[in-house]
Amino acid sequence: MAARILDGKSVAMQIRAEVKRDVEEEQKRTGLAPQLAAVLVGDDPASHVYVRNKIEACREAGLRSQEIRIAADAPESEVLAAVKRLNDDGDVDGILVQLPLPRHVNRVKVLLTIDPAKDVDGLHVINAGRLALKLDGLVPCTPAGVIELLERQGLAIAGQHAVIIGRSEIVGRPLAALLLHRDATVTICHSKTRDLEGLASEADILIAAIGQPAFVRGEHVRPGAVVIDVGINRVTDLALVKDVYGADSPRVAQVQDRGFTLMGDVHWRQASEKASWITPVPGGIGPLTIACLLRNTVRAARLRREPAAWA
Ligand code: NAD
Repeated sequence: MAARILDGKSVAMQIRAEVKRDVEEEQKRTGLAPQLAAVLVGDDPASHVYVRNKIEACREAGLRSQEIRIAADAPESEVLAAVKRLNDDGDVDGILVQLPLPRHVNRVKVLLTIDPAKDVDGLHVINAGRLALKLDGLVPCTPAGVIELLERQGLAIAGQHAVIIGRSEIVGRPLAALLLHRDATVTICHSKTRDLEGLASEADILIAAIGQPAFVRGEHVRPGAVVIDVGINRVTDLALVKDVYGADSPRVAQVQDRGFTLMGDVHWRQASEKASWITPVPGGIGPLTIACLLRNTVRAARLRREPAAWA
């Protein structure tokens, strides 16, 4: 069976068009477009790219944005002070702190300092708790994107067995809650799981969020399963690229030209032969993550301007 492509890019464009309309409405209602503030600590090149893409996406949607850059060797207190200033700034609706943070900065402390009403990454304990209890709140963007993709493609969730590989607080755990709230039967696998292959191969919906290129192979995929690949890995190994995409794939030339290609956690060729639907990398969950961040920023603005909207 040749899997059909779950086109994250086009679903992300739909969401971004909806956000744009919501921003215009909010601007008309209050005179001000919502504003996102991104805090970037240090010089991690990938983080710089991510923040630049998020700021550009804000611009396209009509959202205002600002970027706060903090030196890699700045003390933790400086990061906390920057977050507190943004909390107190009535003109800022959403705050995101780009991860990872330098080692000497306590990530949990920083995330707990963000005003939960402005926490557009949904990582504050209050938002995580609200999600666990199925209350309204700000939901982490990548898991929200996975749900959008499944629902807008009309793929069933209720009653389906969803197997998630990876239990991070950013992807695996919140995604498990969102699927459970939609009546899926959810199994979470991780590095200590026994018989991961056996469990994965029972999945109707198989989600990989591990951070290991081509980890999920043909034998993990039940024929007809929906495969969602959250992983984004920079791969330079030409032999692996040939194995995963085929020796004549444009990916091979990409590695030869620019030195790397982006590969998911799923073995593309093997999984595509068995799945009914599959997300590509890039162009799958990545664009949805950004779209959901924009949507969360508008949502945060509305919820803050009308606190009664919180359930
Ligand atoms: P993480 O490192 O925080 O968590 C990885 C999880 O995978 C852990 O729970 C771990 O138990 C599990 N794991 C690791 N090795 C395993 C193994 N051999 N067997 C079973 N489980 C194993 O990672 P994360 O932040 O959740 O990100 C995972 C991947 O998703 C990365 O490639 C990351 O780049 C990508 N990601 C993509 C987006 C997006 O927008 N598409 C967003 C966030 C993360």
